[in-house]
Amino acid sequence: MRKNIVAGNWKMNMNLQETESLLGALKNTVKTDAGTTVIVTPPFTNLESAITSLKGSGIGVAAQNMHQNENGAFTGEISATMLKSVGVETVILGHSERRAYFGETDAKLAEKVNTALKHDMTVIFCFGEELEDRKSEKHFDIVEGQLKNGLFHISGDAWKNIVLAYEPVWAIGTGETASPEQAQEMHAFIRKTIATSFDDAIADNVSILYGGSVKPANAQEIFAKPDVDGGLIGGAALDAEGFAAIVSAF
Ligand code: PEP
Repeated sequence: MRKNIVAGNWKMNMNLQETESLLGALKNTVKTDAGTTVIVTPPFTNLESAITSLKGSGIGVAAQNMHQNENGAFTGEISATMLKSVGVETVILGHSERRAYFGETDAKLAEKVNTALKHDMTVIFCFGEELEDRKSEKHFDIVEGQLKNGLFHISGDAWKNIVLAYEPVWAIGTGETASPEQAQEMHAFIRKTIATSFDDAIADNVSILYGGSVKPANAQEIFAKPDVDGGLIGGAALDAEGFAAIVSAF
Protein backbone atom coordinates (compact mmCIF):
# COMPACT_ATOMS: atom_id res chain seq x y z
CA MET A 1 0.00 0.00 0.00
CA ARG A 2 1.34 3.43 -1.00
CA LYS A 3 2.57 5.38 2.05
CA ASN A 4 4.01 8.80 2.71
CA ILE A 5 7.63 8.32 3.75
CA VAL A 6 10.41 10.67 4.81
CA ALA A 7 13.80 8.98 5.16
CA GLY A 8 16.95 10.74 6.30
CA ASN A 9 20.18 9.58 4.63
CA TRP A 10 22.89 10.48 7.12
CA LYS A 11 25.72 9.28 4.83
CA MET A 12 29.17 9.16 6.55
CA ASN A 13 28.17 11.61 9.27
CA MET A 14 27.52 11.35 13.02
CA ASN A 15 29.71 9.38 15.42
CA LEU A 16 28.07 7.55 18.32
CA GLN A 17 27.78 10.58 20.59
CA GLU A 18 26.51 12.79 17.78
CA THR A 19 24.03 10.08 16.79
CA GLU A 20 22.66 9.88 20.32
CA SER A 21 22.32 13.63 20.49
CA LEU A 22 20.56 13.90 17.09
CA LEU A 23 18.22 11.00 17.90
CA GLY A 24 17.32 12.64 21.21
CA ALA A 25 16.44 15.85 19.39
CA LEU A 26 14.49 13.97 16.70
CA LYS A 27 12.41 12.18 19.34
CA ASN A 28 11.45 15.58 20.72
CA THR A 29 10.66 17.28 17.44
CA VAL A 30 9.48 14.81 14.78
CA LYS A 31 5.73 14.26 14.58
CA THR A 32 5.17 10.54 14.09
CA ASP A 33 1.42 10.35 14.65
CA ALA A 34 0.29 11.92 11.36
CA GLY A 35 0.56 8.77 9.25
CA THR A 36 3.94 9.51 7.66
CA THR A 37 6.57 6.77 7.93
CA VAL A 38 9.77 8.31 9.29
CA ILE A 39 13.15 6.60 8.86
CA VAL A 40 16.73 7.50 9.77
CA THR A 41 19.86 5.82 8.44
CA PRO A 42 22.82 6.26 10.80
CA PRO A 43 26.18 4.71 9.83
CA PHE A 44 26.65 0.98 10.46
CA THR A 45 28.47 1.51 13.78
CA ASN A 46 25.43 3.25 15.27
CA LEU A 47 22.57 1.15 13.95
CA GLU A 48 22.20 -1.00 17.04
CA SER A 49 22.18 1.93 19.45
CA ALA A 50 19.74 3.77 17.18
CA ILE A 51 17.37 0.79 17.23
CA THR A 52 17.51 0.77 21.03
CA SER A 53 17.19 4.52 21.37
CA LEU A 54 14.23 4.79 18.97
CA LYS A 55 12.21 1.87 20.34
CA GLY A 56 8.61 3.05 20.79
CA SER A 57 9.33 6.44 19.17
CA GLY A 58 7.63 5.69 15.84
CA ILE A 59 10.90 6.46 13.98
CA GLY A 60 12.38 3.55 12.03
CA VAL A 61 16.01 2.72 11.31
CA ALA A 62 17.49 1.66 7.96
CA ALA A 63 21.00 0.89 6.71
CA GLN A 64 22.70 2.84 3.93
CA ASN A 65 24.01 -0.21 2.07
CA MET A 66 24.77 -3.92 2.37
CA HIS A 67 26.77 -6.58 0.52
CA GLN A 68 25.13 -8.97 -1.90
CA ASN A 69 26.80 -12.09 -0.47
CA GLU A 70 25.62 -13.89 2.64
CA ASN A 71 29.04 -13.94 4.33
CA GLY A 72 32.69 -14.70 3.57
CA ALA A 73 35.93 -13.04 2.55
CA PHE A 74 34.65 -9.54 1.82
CA THR A 75 36.74 -7.41 4.15
CA GLY A 76 34.95 -4.31 5.35
CA GLU A 77 31.49 -5.35 4.18
CA ILE A 78 28.19 -5.89 6.03
CA SER A 79 25.65 -8.62 5.25
CA ALA A 80 21.86 -8.78 5.36
CA THR A 81 21.90 -11.16 8.33
CA MET A 82 24.22 -8.81 10.25
CA LEU A 83 21.74 -5.99 9.72
CA LYS A 84 18.79 -8.17 10.68
CA SER A 85 20.59 -9.44 13.79
CA VAL A 86 20.58 -5.89 15.23
CA GLY A 87 16.97 -5.27 14.19
CA VAL A 88 17.43 -3.46 10.87
CA GLU A 89 14.77 -4.47 8.33
CA THR A 90 15.24 -1.78 5.67
CA VAL A 91 18.23 -0.94 3.47
CA ILE A 92 19.01 1.79 0.94
CA LEU A 93 20.45 0.32 -2.26
CA GLY A 94 21.80 2.07 -5.34
CA HIS A 95 22.43 5.52 -3.95
CA SER A 96 24.23 7.59 -6.59
CA GLU A 97 27.27 7.93 -4.32
CA ARG A 98 27.53 4.11 -4.14
CA ARG A 99 27.14 3.94 -7.92
CA ALA A 100 29.71 6.69 -8.57
CA TYR A 101 32.41 5.99 -5.93
CA PHE A 102 32.06 2.27 -5.19
CA GLY A 103 31.43 0.76 -8.60
CA GLU A 104 27.87 -0.34 -7.93
CA THR A 105 26.53 -1.33 -11.32
CA ASP A 106 22.94 -2.20 -12.17
CA ALA A 107 23.97 -5.88 -12.21
CA LYS A 108 25.49 -5.70 -8.74
CA LEU A 109 22.45 -3.85 -7.46
CA ALA A 110 20.18 -6.55 -8.88
CA GLU A 111 22.12 -9.07 -6.75
CA LYS A 112 21.84 -6.87 -3.68
CA VAL A 113 18.10 -6.51 -4.24
CA ASN A 114 17.77 -10.30 -4.46
CA THR A 115 19.67 -10.81 -1.22
CA ALA A 116 17.64 -8.18 0.64
CA LEU A 117 14.36 -9.67 -0.60
CA LYS A 118 15.49 -13.19 0.28
CA HIS A 119 15.86 -11.91 3.85
CA ASP A 120 12.45 -10.23 3.67
CA MET A 121 13.97 -6.78 4.00
CA THR A 122 12.48 -3.58 2.58
CA VAL A 123 14.63 -1.94 -0.09
CA ILE A 124 14.74 1.79 -0.72
CA PHE A 125 15.98 1.58 -4.32
CA CYS A 126 17.69 4.76 -5.55
CA PHE A 127 18.26 5.84 -9.14
CA GLY A 128 18.43 9.03 -11.17
CA GLU A 129 20.09 10.69 -14.11
CA GLU A 130 23.21 12.87 -14.28
CA LEU A 131 23.11 16.48 -15.44
CA GLU A 132 24.49 15.55 -18.87
CA ASP A 133 21.68 13.02 -19.31
CA ARG A 134 19.06 15.65 -18.61
CA LYS A 135 20.73 18.24 -20.85
CA SER A 136 20.76 15.74 -23.70
CA GLU A 137 17.16 14.74 -22.90
CA LYS A 138 18.14 11.15 -22.12
CA HIS A 139 16.85 11.28 -18.54
CA PHE A 140 13.78 9.12 -19.13
CA ASP A 141 15.86 6.46 -20.94
CA ILE A 142 18.50 6.45 -18.19
CA VAL A 143 15.93 6.06 -15.42
CA GLU A 144 14.08 3.34 -17.33
CA GLY A 145 17.37 1.47 -17.85
CA GLN A 146 18.34 1.71 -14.17
CA LEU A 147 14.95 0.36 -13.13
CA LYS A 148 14.78 -2.41 -15.72
CA ASN A 149 18.38 -3.58 -15.18
CA GLY A 150 18.56 -3.28 -11.40
CA LEU A 151 15.05 -4.01 -10.21
CA PHE A 152 12.52 -5.25 -12.73
CA HIS A 153 13.65 -8.89 -12.48
CA ILE A 154 11.75 -9.18 -9.16
CA SER A 155 8.37 -10.88 -8.89
CA GLY A 156 5.15 -8.91 -8.69
CA ASP A 157 4.74 -10.04 -5.11
CA ALA A 158 8.16 -8.64 -4.11
CA TRP A 159 7.03 -5.07 -4.84
CA LYS A 160 5.43 -4.89 -1.40
CA ASN A 161 9.04 -4.71 -0.08
CA ILE A 162 10.16 -1.95 -2.47
CA VAL A 163 10.25 1.82 -2.02
CA LEU A 164 11.63 3.85 -4.93
CA ALA A 165 13.74 6.98 -4.56
CA TYR A 166 14.18 9.10 -7.67
CA GLU A 167 17.26 11.21 -7.06
CA PRO A 168 18.57 13.23 -10.01
CA VAL A 169 22.34 13.28 -9.40
CA TRP A 170 22.55 16.96 -10.33
CA ALA A 171 20.29 17.82 -7.40
CA ILE A 172 22.05 15.81 -4.66
CA GLY A 173 23.97 17.95 -2.20
CA THR A 174 24.12 20.80 -4.72
CA GLY A 175 21.34 23.02 -3.40
CA GLU A 176 19.74 22.68 -6.84
CA THR A 177 16.34 21.00 -6.58
CA ALA A 178 14.31 19.52 -9.39
CA SER A 179 11.21 21.67 -9.71
CA PRO A 180 8.03 20.09 -8.34
CA GLU A 181 6.89 19.77 -11.99
CA GLN A 182 10.10 17.98 -13.01
CA ALA A 183 9.74 15.60 -10.05
CA GLN A 184 6.07 14.94 -10.85
CA GLU A 185 6.84 14.37 -14.54
CA MET A 186 9.50 11.75 -13.73
CA HIS A 187 7.46 10.07 -10.99
CA ALA A 188 4.49 9.72 -13.35
CA PHE A 189 6.84 8.25 -15.98
CA ILE A 190 8.17 5.76 -13.39
CA ARG A 191 4.64 4.65 -12.50
CA LYS A 192 3.77 4.27 -16.18
CA THR A 193 6.92 2.18 -16.75
CA ILE A 194 6.03 -0.09 -13.82
CA ALA A 195 2.44 -0.43 -15.03
CA THR A 196 3.69 -1.49 -18.47
CA SER A 197 6.18 -4.07 -17.16
CA PHE A 198 4.03 -5.27 -14.23
CA ASP A 199 0.51 -3.94 -13.69
CA ASP A 200 -1.50 -0.87 -12.63
CA ALA A 201 -1.99 -2.05 -9.05
CA ILE A 202 1.76 -2.40 -8.45
CA ALA A 203 2.41 0.97 -10.07
CA ASP A 204 -0.27 2.65 -7.93
CA ASN A 205 0.80 1.04 -4.68
CA VAL A 206 4.56 1.65 -4.72
CA SER A 207 5.80 4.69 -2.80
CA ILE A 208 8.09 6.90 -4.89
CA LEU A 209 10.26 9.34 -2.95
CA TYR A 210 12.03 12.34 -4.41
CA GLY A 211 15.57 13.12 -3.29
CA GLY A 212 17.84 16.05 -4.06
CA SER A 213 18.27 19.13 -1.90
CA VAL A 214 14.87 18.83 -0.22
CA LYS A 215 14.64 21.42 2.55
CA PRO A 216 11.90 22.72 4.88
CA ALA A 217 11.40 25.60 2.42
CA ASN A 218 10.65 23.43 -0.64
CA ALA A 219 9.32 20.15 0.81
CA GLN A 220 5.67 21.17 0.85
CA GLU A 221 5.39 22.02 -2.85
CA ILE A 222 7.30 18.89 -3.87
CA PHE A 223 5.28 16.55 -1.62
CA ALA A 224 2.04 18.14 -2.88
CA LYS A 225 2.54 16.56 -6.31
CA PRO A 226 0.28 13.54 -6.79
CA ASP A 227 2.98 11.01 -7.66
CA VAL A 228 5.49 12.16 -5.02
CA ASP A 229 5.07 10.14 -1.83
CA GLY A 230 7.78 11.77 0.24
CA GLY A 231 11.50 12.32 0.25
CA LEU A 232 14.94 10.87 0.78
CA ILE A 233 16.70 13.66 2.61
CA GLY A 234 20.49 14.09 2.83
CA GLY A 235 21.96 17.27 4.29
CA ALA A 236 18.72 18.51 5.86
CA ALA A 237 18.32 15.21 7.76
CA LEU A 238 21.21 16.16 10.06
CA ASP A 239 19.28 19.01 11.65
CA ALA A 240 16.43 17.85 13.91
CA GLU A 241 14.19 20.89 13.49
CA GLY A 242 14.65 20.98 9.73
CA PHE A 243 13.99 17.26 9.39
CA ALA A 244 10.91 17.53 11.62
CA ALA A 245 9.61 20.35 9.43
CA ILE A 246 10.09 18.22 6.31
CA VAL A 247 8.24 15.31 7.96
CA SER A 248 5.35 17.71 8.65
CA ALA A 249 5.32 19.09 5.10
CA PHE A 250 2.57 16.80 3.74
C1 PEP B 1 20.76 12.08 -0.69
O1 PEP B 1 21.93 11.93 -0.38
O2 PEP B 1 20.05 11.08 -0.86
C2 PEP B 1 20.25 13.44 -0.84
C3 PEP B 1 19.07 13.61 -1.38
O3 PEP B 1 21.06 14.45 -0.42
P1 PEP B 1 20.67 16.02 -0.30
O4 PEP B 1 19.30 16.08 0.34
O5 PEP B 1 21.74 16.60 0.59
O6 PEP B 1 20.67 16.57 -1.67
